[in-house]
Amino acid sequence: MHTDPDCIFCKIAAGKIPSKKVHEDDGMLAFHDINPWAPVHFLMVPKEHIPSMAQVEERHAPLLGRMLALAPKLAMREGCRPYPEGGFRIVINTGDDGGQEVHHLHIHVYGGPRPWKRG
Ligand code: AMP
Ligand code: ZN
Repeated sequence: MHTDPDCIFCKIAAGKIPSKKVHEDDGMLAFHDINPWAPVHFLMVPKEHIPSMAQVEERHAPLLGRMLALAPKLAMREGCRPYPEGGFRIVINTGDDGGQEVHHLHIHVYGGPRPWKRG
C-alpha cells in the first residue's frame, strides 16, 4: 500500500500524529477535524495515500463505497440527528479550485444543530 512519509494524514493514519479517532479498520481511519465547521465534523481517510478524487482508480471503488456506506452510521454515532429532520453534509474538496488544503483524499462529514461555521 502506498503511503507518503511527508503527508500529515498518512502520519495520522499510521498513528504517528495523534487524532481523536471515530473509526478504524484495515482500509480507513475516521477522526475529528481539528477545526470543526459544525457541532459534528469528522474526516474519513483511506490508509493508502491517494492525493485526491482526481487520482481515484477503479480498484479504489470498493473501499470508497465502504467509506460512504459507513459515513451515515458514524454521523449518527457522533451526534447528528436522524434523517429527515436532522442529517449531515458530505464534502470532498478536490484540487485548488475545489478548496483542498490537505492532499490526501478525505471525506468531510459534518452536521448537528445549526448554525454552522461553514456550509
Ligand atoms: P480540506 O480543505 O478539504 O483539504 O480540509 C482539510 C481539513 O483537515 C481541514 O478541515 C482541517 O481543519 C483538517 N485538519 C488539518 N490538520 C488536521 C489534524 N492534524 N487533525 C485533524 N484535522 C486536521
Ligand atoms: Zn497521505
